[in-house]
Amino acid sequence: MSQDSSVIFKNVVKAFNDTHVVKSINFQVDSGKLVTLLGPSGCGKTTTLRMIAGLELPTSGEIYISGKEVSKVSASGRNVGMVFQSYALFPHMTVLQNVCYGLSNQKSKKEEMFEKAEKALATVGLSHFKERYPSELSGGQQQRVAIARSIVIQPDVLLFDEPLSNLDAKLRRQVRQDIRDLQQEIGVTAIYVTHDQEEALAISDDIIVMNDGEISQIGSPNNLYKHPENTFVAQFIGDANKLTGNIVDNAENRVFKINEHCLFTYQGDKTVGKYDVFIRPNALKFVNSESPSDISFPAKIKKSIYLGSHTEYQLVTPWGDSLFMIDYSFDEPLANQTKIFISIDARGVSIV
Ligand code: ATP
Repeated sequence: MSQDSSVIFKNVVKAFNDTHVVKSINFQVDSGKLVTLLGPSGCGKTTTLRMIAGLELPTSGEIYISGKEVSKVSASGRNVGMVFQSYALFPHMTVLQNVCYGLSNQKSKKEEMFEKAEKALATVGLSHFKERYPSELSGGQQQRVAIARSIVIQPDVLLFDEPLSNLDAKLRRQVRQDIRDLQQEIGVTAIYVTHDQEEALAISDDIIVMNDGEISQIGSPNNLYKHPENTFVAQFIGDANKLTGNIVDNAENRVFKINEHCLFTYQGDKTVGKYDVFIRPNALKFVNSESPSDISFPAKIKKSIYLGSHTEYQLVTPWGDSLFMIDYSFDEPLANQTKIFISIDARGVSIV
């Protein structure tokens, strides 16, 4: 593993025939970080990952790994490990043989190969299964073998292409945490592709949000959630209600208003005027309808869905927008058509 194991993309374009599926993207992943490429299906995540692996070459632009330009270097000339969603294990080989296969390109002695493979298996906690065949393992264990096979070469960069897609929801949480723990333990630079925003938020140092072959925004999970820079990011990461209204001066403070309704007190640095705002579903709160405050508005429940830990509501506002709300309280769900008052926690609002 090199000391510098950064990955840099400079104006990288990838076209298939005449279709540009990656349109001049720029980013840098620093050594030892886990960065996720996140975006909807077809936005170019996998193509970007495959260009890092050398499985696709860029149409134009430059790719650097560990400070060296590799734009035209094939996969075998790059020290990169890759974990696929399908695991891609050989069914006729034992776990240990599968992991050794990762080293077959390196001219190591047999004993040395087994030693390295056993060490990689110990790192993923599977030493005791080394003589088993893949069919004798669970999906999560097979994925760990695939990870062992990709770390055994001590790659400069480890790539994950939707590695949890074949696992059930509960196991997905466990394995994603295992991947993050392992990545931090061995300190490898990792780039991870997913279309699942929760997965990206849970494991990443930084997230590169992609849309239609372009980068919409790069930031830490917290930064992207709190400060989306555009409509796509606001709505793709964590759901958001989009409303249009006015920031106006009230008696003592500045408020965001739609028609005569004050939605929330505004304390940011935007000037008076018309704006689009994005409101997180959990920023909407029920207000006691006996004594609603000035900074609240009436609404009606169109639909409620009880989901155990929380209830999802669709609300209708007097100005005609519908709002998506999530209530995490222990209260009984309210019936459809109930009239209520709503306030907004301004911490869950962003103005783009
Ligand atoms: P998903 O989450 O569905 O895997 P993605 O974001 O990873 O999507 P890519 O697999 O990178 O998207 O594909 C981006 C676009 O490039 C898609 O429209 C896809 O059809 C197209 N594409 C990918 N590989 C090829 C190829 N070899 N030839 C032609 N078009 C391709």
